[in-house]
Amino acid sequence: MKREYIFIGPPGSGKGTQTIMLSREYKLPHIDTGALLRAEIASGSEIGERANERIKKGQLVPIEIVSEIIKNRLKEKDCENGFILDGYPRSLEQAKALDKIFEEIDGTTQTDRKVFYFDIAEDSLIERLVNRRTCPKCGEIFNLKTIKGDTPPLKPLKRGDSLFCPHCEAELTQRKDDTEEVAKARFETYFSETHPLIDLYSKRNLVCTIQADKDIKTVYAQLKKAVEKNGN
Ligand code: AMP
Repeated sequence: MKREYIFIGPPGSGKGTQTIMLSREYKLPHIDTGALLRAEIASGSEIGERANERIKKGQLVPIEIVSEIIKNRLKEKDCENGFILDGYPRSLEQAKALDKIFEEIDGTTQTDRKVFYFDIAEDSLIERLVNRRTCPKCGEIFNLKTIKGDTPPLKPLKRGDSLFCPHCEAELTQRKDDTEEVAKARFETYFSETHPLIDLYSKRNLVCTIQADKDIKTVYAQLKKAVEKNGN
């Protein structure tokens, strides 16, 4: 059965950490639209330039850009047995586009389609975002402060004032949109554009709610249980 997993939750809810773990264990490609867009920006492409204008403001990038990127990515060979979508769809319009993509790529293939909703109170999330650091090489996510319920699985290496990834020794970086001002805008975008998807997918009986305010291991245990369950 082809596993098609969609992750939805507010910025900083831990989707990135959990989807990386799930992708490693189940050997499913982790398709993170934010990371794909940041790679476009780093390459200096025209698409990257257009995307950057919106990302800097915490707004959604135009649908024709993201949907094209996703469609091409999901047609790649490594997605044949399934994939993890982290950050797409992010609006009702994108959900419609994804329905069409599924029709095109799946045909009569049997699929196990699930939507994991990361349910978490908003209060500590901005703090989580501004303290987030990432390894530019392997994508591992770190947090400088342990916040309510978080137990970081590994600590960055500290040399002088700089922090490095314990896996690959690359210096950790901070995302440009992980500032307080942009984070606030990203929350507004999430609640107005993305959150309504929970209603849409609930009506289709696809939603598995994950209590995301627990520590990393506990959240992962819930996620695995939901992944292994037949139906939703
Ligand atoms: P993320 O890494 O998921 O927090 O995404 C970072 C930024 O990339 C978002 O704030 C949006 O500006 C943009 N972005 C990521 N995914 C999408 C998407 N599906 N649609 C539109 N914009 C997106």
